[in-house]
Order: sequence, then C-alpha cells, then structure tokens
Amino acid sequence: MPPFKAVLIEKDASGAQSAGFATLTDADLMEGDVTVRVERSTVNYKDGLAITGRAPVVRRFPMVPGVDGVGIVEQSASAWFKPGDRVLLNGWGVGELHLGAWAERARWKGDWLISLPSGFSPDEGMAIGTAGYTAMMCVMALERHGIGPSGGPILVTGAAGGVGSVAVALLAGLGYHVVASTGRPEEADYLKGLGAAEVIARAELEGSGKPLARERWIGAIDVVGGQTLANILSMIRYDGAVAACGLAGGLEMSTTVAPFILRGVTLYGIDSVYVPKPVRVAVWDRLDRDLDRARLAAMTRRIAFDDVIDAARDIVDGRIRGRLVVEIG
Ligand code: NDP
Repeated sequence: MPPFKAVLIEKDASGAQSAGFATLTDADLMEGDVTVRVERSTVNYKDGLAITGRAPVVRRFPMVPGVDGVGIVEQSASAWFKPGDRVLLNGWGVGELHLGAWAERARWKGDWLISLPSGFSPDEGMAIGTAGYTAMMCVMALERHGIGPSGGPILVTGAAGGVGSVAVALLAGLGYHVVASTGRPEEADYLKGLGAAEVIARAELEGSGKPLARERWIGAIDVVGGQTLANILSMIRYDGAVAACGLAGGLEMSTTVAPFILRGVTLYGIDSVYVPKPVRVAVWDRLDRDLDRARLAAMTRRIAFDDVIDAARDIVDGRIRGRLVVEIG
C-alpha cells in the first residue's frame, strides 16, 4: 500500500507537544482487523484538547488524532465487515490510545465499527459525529426518565456548539420547547432556525448560585459542567432530570444535595466512548429517524484536511459554530 497523509501529535524529550502533517505507511498503523480508507472525519472538542494539549487526552505518542471517521473497508479479517463496506467509527479511545481518523488510512477493530446507516451520506455521518450521537444519547436519557414534549421546557447549554446544536435540532423536531443557552448572542437567529423557542444568555447560569433557585426547566442537556451544572441542578423542576456530558466550562463542580433530596432531581452522566455496539446501533437508528436533514445541513460546514489543525485550535476557544466535516479522501 502506498504511503499516506496523516496528522501526527508528537512529544519531544522535554515533554513539549507538537502537531503537524506527516507521511505514514501501513507499518505505522496499530493492531486491528479492519483497514479503512478514511473518507470523512470531523472536529470534536476532544480533538481540540488533543491538538492543543490543554487536557491529557492523548495517552500514546506519536498519535493520530480524530475520534470519528467514516470510510471504506480495504482489508478485513473481521466477521462483521468485508472490503467495500462503508463503516463508521466513534470513540473507543481512538485518537487517544489508538491511532485515529485524521489520516487517509486507519486500522481499527471490527468490534468498534458499525455500518454507516443507509439513510446518511458520509458527510452527514460526520456532521453528526460523536457530538451528535452524544446529543441523541442525552435526549434518550431524558426520555427514559419519562420526560416528554408536553412535560415542560428543556434547557440546552453550549447551544451554538456541536452537541448543543444537534440537541436543539433533535428536541425541537420531537416537539419539545427548547431553551437554548449561549455565550454568543449573535447566534440567536441561528439557534431559532434550528428550532429553539427561546435563547438565553450563558451568563444567567454562571456565578455562585443558591442551593435551590426558581424552578425553570423539567430537563436539561448540559455540555458546560462546572458551576454552570451546579446552578442548573438548582433550577430544575420537581422530578426533573439533567443529562450531563461535557466540561466546556470546567471539570469541578460544587453543589449541594438540595435539588436531589428536596426536588427529586436526577443527574444522568453520559459517556459516548465505550458504549456497547447494540446501543450505538440503536442511537444511530434514532438519529436516522429523528434528525431533520435540513437542520443538520444548516449547522454544518465542510473544511479541507489541510485546515483541520487550525479548526481544532478554534473549537477549544469556542469559535466553531455547529459542526464541521473534514474531507480526508
Ligand atoms: P463545542 O466546542 O462545539 O461546543 C461547546 C460549546 O460550549 C461552545 O460552542 C460554547 O457554546 C460553550 N462554551 C465553550 N466554552 C465555554 C465556557 N468556558 N463556559 C461556558 N460555555 C462554554 O464542543 P462539543 O459540542 O463538541 O462538546 C461539548 C462538550 O461535550 C465538551 O466538553 C466535550 O468534551 C463534551 N463531549 C462529551 C462526550 C461524552 O461522551 N461525554 C461526547 C462529545 C462531547 P455557546 O457559545 O453557545 O455558549
């Protein structure tokens, strides 16, 4: 097989991390039973952390980042897939511990892959990516809690970002009254276009709050974490729930037990990385059924492979709106 282009994150003897483009060969690829010609990837917040080194998500050097990919199987010893199949990868430590999707070729385990649902093009698969699939998991957690569209308003934080944009579009499409929180007031029209009924300022959820505040929402999907999550918990209505998946605003949170023991509030933790295959398939089936394709297109921008490192830096600075699709091959 010919050499191929990849993004490579390296660490020097002093511990300094750098990222750039490199030429690799199949001998550089790690273990796995499926070799894939990568067609499309995307830029997730975690990729931004990997490129900038702002959090220790890369635990093997050198590393090819890219936690999401769609591509065509070139070689397979897996019972699941044969050459020519189009596959989808989200997570499983790829881009952290195992070489990722920001490369023209990748080798992964068949157990990690699912078929790209036939309802999605490769671009749409990556427009959704881990961000969108996590948003769907959050929606499903609220549904399992028993929260339906007539139950009351649902808050979505970091709404102009990737998880937030997909969450707004999904919830609105399902008939929920969506309250979108953003630090970018100039994106209010964008968020209303995705289906948000109200747009509020991120600042309303920041700062030190009270153990119990005015009850505002029956549910919330939170990507911010930190003090914002503590404040949201204090504002959830009786028997409501929060699906928490992110840390864009901070890792640590200081809260009280008051929302849990006085209002019966539930906090669901959402992890997308190590979800078993049957759950992934179910989540992607729901996306296929419930995500409005026009709204998905409205939140998505396509970028060239050469621009992916700059985009990764931008995402951790909160400068990316919605979702990006990276044209790999
Ligand atoms: P994005 O960068 O696309 O969106 C994050 C959004 O959060 C920003 O657009 C911004 O929205 C808001 N934000 C950014 N910085 C701050 C801040 N300091 N305080 C408050 N709000 C802020 O990232 P993603 O949507 O892809 O990911 C969001 C979070 O979810 C990340 O922490 C990511 O790691 C996590 N995640 C977790 C997954 C899991 O499996 N648990 C899977 C996927 C993502 P706005 O401008 O509208 O306020």
